[in-house]
Amino acid sequence: MELTGIESTVALVTGAAQGIGAAVAATLAGAGAHVAAVDRNADRLTTTVAKLEAEGGTARGYTVDVRDSAAVDALVRRVEDELGPIGILVNAAGVLHTGRVVELPDRQWDETFSVNAGGVFNVSRAVARRMIDRRRGAVVTVASNAAGVPRVEMAAYAASKAASAQFTRCLGLELSGYGIRCNVVSPGSTDTPMLRSMLGEEGDPRQVVEGSPAAYRVGIPLRKLARPRDVAEAVAYLVSDQAGHVTMHDLYVDGGAALH
Ligand code: NAD
Repeated sequence: MELTGIESTVALVTGAAQGIGAAVAATLAGAGAHVAAVDRNADRLTTTVAKLEAEGGTARGYTVDVRDSAAVDALVRRVEDELGPIGILVNAAGVLHTGRVVELPDRQWDETFSVNAGGVFNVSRAVARRMIDRRRGAVVTVASNAAGVPRVEMAAYAASKAASAQFTRCLGLELSGYGIRCNVVSPGSTDTPMLRSMLGEEGDPRQVVEGSPAAYRVGIPLRKLARPRDVAEAVAYLVSDQAGHVTMHDLYVDGGAALH
């Protein structure tokens, strides 16, 4: 099935320098979108945007920290001045701090919420204000299956992802009268730098695939990690015309790990 409604549309993707965000940027650029690739990591963003362009995509990089709401408002203005009206927003920027609640420092809790929930609010609000005027647009927030399944050492992350998922579904309700759809993609363990740094140098992805009773993980029923592309393809579907009647949905892309 060929996806339509993406070609020549301006797509703002946060967290686009690496991992899932970079795969989303590549998938949307491959479908003909004009990608505004946003990340706080300027060096990696430059490399990623150069790669997208070398592959024939149209992309421009913007270095912004999504926690800074004034900078986000200025970014959205600049993207629309330079590339045109934003028709697609994908919130993929995120951070992961793991640790038991009794040992979690304030700054890790704060950063987790200010990026994973606050960043989604800042960017979605700035873009939604413009989409409303045009009465069209599609938003996807990349949350996590951790939002729906309690896990040891994931309390801050899981709670922040539950916040971003429910925020996005509420936004979908508010914007539905304008024909704007807002959906969530909840990945399970996906082979990206975030997952590799959680596992550490000694870590073996098989622990995640096979499960760990100590961490209350059942493992991944499909017996493999997701690739960033698996998640990006679900995002592309949700922003396309083919998902024209889908909104406020939470699509789990986790090989069955959440058992729902
Ligand atoms: P990653 O760490 O590989 O990439 C995240 C990107 O977000 C980085 O380029 C980083 O610089 C950027 N970023 C972080 N904070 C930012 C900020 N304040 N402003 C702007 N950019 C910022 O992570 P990933 O694995 O590709 O994850 C992408 C998204 O998917 C995240 O929201 C993550 O929580 C979610 N997710 C990942 C997994 C997984 O197993 N990898 C599973 C479920 C959900």
